[in-house]
Amino acid sequence: MYEFAVTPAVTQLRRPGVIITEVAAGSVAEELELRPNDRIVRVNGRPVRDYLDFRFQTAGETELSFQVKKTNGETHEIEFDREEGEDLGLMFEQIVPRQCANECIFCFCKGNPSDARPSLFVRDEDIRLSFLYGNYTTLTSITEDEMRRIVEQRLSPQYVSVHATDLKTRAYLLGVDEKRADISEKLARLLDHDIEIHAQVVLCPGINDGAILEKTLRDLASHYPKIVSTAVVPVALTRYNNDERLTPVTAEFCRHTIYEVERLQKEFRRTVGSTFAFLGDEIYIKGGLDIPSRRHYGNYPQIEDGVGMVRSFLNSFERALNSGSGQDLKNTRIHMDAMQPRSQTAPANGHPPTTHGTILTGEMFAPTLSERISRYNRLRGTDLHVLAVPNTYFGGDVAVAGLITGQDYLNVKDRIVGNFAVIPKHTIKSDEPILLDGMSFDQLKSQFPVPIYDMDVNGLMEFLSRH
Ligand code: SF4
Repeated sequence: MYEFAVTPAVTQLRRPGVIITEVAAGSVAEELELRPNDRIVRVNGRPVRDYLDFRFQTAGETELSFQVKKTNGETHEIEFDREEGEDLGLMFEQIVPRQCANECIFCFCKGNPSDARPSLFVRDEDIRLSFLYGNYTTLTSITEDEMRRIVEQRLSPQYVSVHATDLKTRAYLLGVDEKRADISEKLARLLDHDIEIHAQVVLCPGINDGAILEKTLRDLASHYPKIVSTAVVPVALTRYNNDERLTPVTAEFCRHTIYEVERLQKEFRRTVGSTFAFLGDEIYIKGGLDIPSRRHYGNYPQIEDGVGMVRSFLNSFERALNSGSGQDLKNTRIHMDAMQPRSQTAPANGHPPTTHGTILTGEMFAPTLSERISRYNRLRGTDLHVLAVPNTYFGGDVAVAGLITGQDYLNVKDRIVGNFAVIPKHTIKSDEPILLDGMSFDQLKSQFPVPIYDMDVNGLMEFLSRH
């Protein structure tokens, strides 16, 4: 499930150009009298649709001309030179996601409560966000213009939800006709132009598992290394998914899938030199089997899809225990070009001043974390506790940390021990301090018995390594 860092202006008509949100003091842009809310419409005569276009068209250019629409309606033509590599000092509005035209049977939107906030219903299908943030697209409705743009602007890698290479199965899963579901030519064209692809399979028992999965993984691996990796993640059903075509993922199904896919992974390591097909962490945890070793994951190509996150955490944790520094969890998927707008709203966060507190996490990860934290307590003399937070908002088999809501936290507040609580940072929207159910972070803090710190895994590691 993805939630948008932006509140999409789906009802707002898009005007050409990209809107400036900030102009740095003392910058070239300030000298040029560019102001927030000015819209840059053209760069060197070429139209600009968003900040990716802006970056592409200004990259490496020292002689520039901008056509700018000012807020008073005037159009200004600005010509100027800059030093090579000189930053212009501009920040821009975020990209408004393009939405999909599919009807996937497992779509996360169908798993939302009807009163969930609107941004949870954004069905993005946007190759720009795929490049910038690693969001998956299905390529079913990609336009010729977008295809050309990927190639021309080198928007690589792209993250593609394949689900099945068997056309009938893919069409069934996506709820579209076979013609639309067939992306073989589009994929071939991207690969021919050396665009790297990371693929995803959302595994639905009885639909795209077994022989269909094997065919999918073999077909995709035949394009390695251009198709770099494939994540196989289990379908997650909330209590609102009542589509009879979907079957919940059981422990036995997970064990069987591990057994089947391990066979292929061995084969791929032998034939292409990479594990290539990576199973989501949930599959190992639910199946009650060990998470594979560090070597299995290579450079963690799908860590943002919950693939290898636990292994990476465990290894970082060991380092934090042994050397005082365990910080190596990297966000491998967010592209550098995406950093600028996100950083505009990144909240500052401190660390708890004491070592007697509670770390809250999802039910899935809690046993693993709890076992490590107990060991940590014994070695370091700390008194930290892990508290599993049941997900009552989505219900069903949703047990991952990232989908815990404000009310879920409040439901367990009486079980907090110590004088602080840590919650997973990604349960708070990245561009404004609210949780998935719309509760503000301040509201949550005001109802909690102790101060709350929101930390990502690196933050937690840093905290642990300081004691
Ligand atoms: S591609 Fe499918 S899962 Fe993704 S948003 Fe569209 S309908 Fe939902």
